[in-house]
Amino acid sequence: MENCIFCKILNKQIPSEFVYEDDYCFAINDINPKANKHILVIPKEHIESLNEISDTKIIQKLFEAIFKINEKLGIKAYQTHINTGKEAGQEVMHLHIHILAD
Ligand code: 5GP
Ligand code: ZN
Repeated sequence: MENCIFCKILNKQIPSEFVYEDDYCFAINDINPKANKHILVIPKEHIESLNEISDTKIIQKLFEAIFKINEKLGIKAYQTHINTGKEAGQEVMHLHIHILAD
């Protein structure tokens, strides 16, 4: 998807270190962290938001990735956030799950 920051990061048009990657998703550190650890878990498919999901399998895949990332980084206590829709604070219109941990 053109002009999508997360698609550009996935396609290496914008450099960003991947903290995790599999067939379905990738994860990066948030550029403006709101906790000591702030990671974004992002599906490789350009899905605008939770409202545009056609196959709920992606939710399972995203959470499986979260569990692996947390194990790798030793995160035991954390919040997960999903903002859905501009009015709810979604700034990047490509689905992502925030992991926030101190
Ligand atoms: P949202 O408000 O859409 O749920 O969250 C978008 C998040 O993406 C924000 O926390 C913001 O800091 C982060 N973000 C926006 N642009 C970039 C970027 O170019 N690189 C990284 N790593 N994070 C970004
Ligand atoms: Zn995208």
